[in-house]
Amino acid sequence: MLDIKITLTDHPQQKPEAGKPLGFGKIFTDHMFVMNYTEGKGWYDARIVPYDKISLYPSAMVFHYGQEMFEGLKAYKGEDGKAYLFRPDMNAKRANESNDRLCIPRIPEEDFVQAVKAVVNVDKDWIPSEPGTSLYVRPFVIATDEFLGVAPSKNYLFIIILSPSGAYYASGLNPVGIWIEDEFVRAVRGGIGFAKTGGNYAASLKAQVKAHDAGFSQVLWLDGVERKYIEEVGAMNIFFKIAGKIVTPALSGSILPGITRNSVLTLCRDWGYEVEERKVSVDELIEAQKNGTLEEVFGTGTAAVISPVGKLRYVDEVMTIGDGGIGEVSQKLYDTVTGIQTGKVADPYGNWHVCVED
Ligand SMILES: *Cc1c(COP(=O)(O)O)cnc(C)c1O
Repeated sequence: MLDIKITLTDHPQQKPEAGKPLGFGKIFTDHMFVMNYTEGKGWYDARIVPYDKISLYPSAMVFHYGQEMFEGLKAYKGEDGKAYLFRPDMNAKRANESNDRLCIPRIPEEDFVQAVKAVVNVDKDWIPSEPGTSLYVRPFVIATDEFLGVAPSKNYLFIIILSPSGAYYASGLNPVGIWIEDEFVRAVRGGIGFAKTGGNYAASLKAQVKAHDAGFSQVLWLDGVERKYIEEVGAMNIFFKIAGKIVTPALSGSILPGITRNSVLTLCRDWGYEVEERKVSVDELIEAQKNGTLEEVFGTGTAAVISPVGKLRYVDEVMTIGDGGIGEVSQKLYDTVTGIQTGKVADPYGNWHVCVED
């Protein structure tokens, strides 16, 4: 158990007006969680303080070699006025998998969850209530040693900030166009693709700009070796419905193990679908599209939850998936997962819908 010292702000900000579009990641709440780490001492000084600037030297290691880890999850306001999270224990576990890969010290998983719950509870009045909105929670760790040598830092900050966010889709689910990137790659096996860290995103920007310029909203990455097998989308995992089966690329070390991905696999299996986690090649997709068995394509991730794909581009081919609209499984998954998150659908597993006060 962390002993979290709470200092409330003297200057609460005006909360965004109800009904005004919030966008994503642009507004921050009144408070943040902060905790320090020093080698030999461990994690200490857990505190919730007013949201403010942090002070670091330009020599802080995170600025130079990118030793940092981040997480992302959402909080929702229940009908009972309490704040709820979706599977925060999974974020705590994944944070440590990222930490291990990046030589960042582990954060005890119960402390991670306690910190998230505590800060969300302090700022629970910031949770927006319009359909599709939520409070986005961003925990992250940065290396703070003043040192330009390449080595793991001896000092870190663990911070959690909160951002009220609007509905991902202004008017219900909306199919997106996806660009299968055939030149740049995001990650390779043995690298840091499975870790949630800024470096993966830095590596993705160039292709993202290219895809946007061509009128596509997201990049679908191929494997870094043969550029033949499907990996994942920018910040989403990818699923296909091929001849009635639910298929997703197996976790290979270069794919981020999404919590939404895990939840979708669990639900689909429990609904009786045949589910396969395996290699999926672009050629297989093109073939399935030609013979009419590529029935649905959708992305999964915390931001959009389920993102139906209407169009897939690969080199000279542009494939329209189904009728370009929202597939049946995509819609059912979206309704179920968002229903469990907001408490409108009973949690079938008992530990997916978690009250911050428990
Ligand atoms: C966070 C993330 C995802 C989705 O993970 P969720 O836990 O479902 O939000 C997928 N791919 C990448 C690269 C990510 O950073």
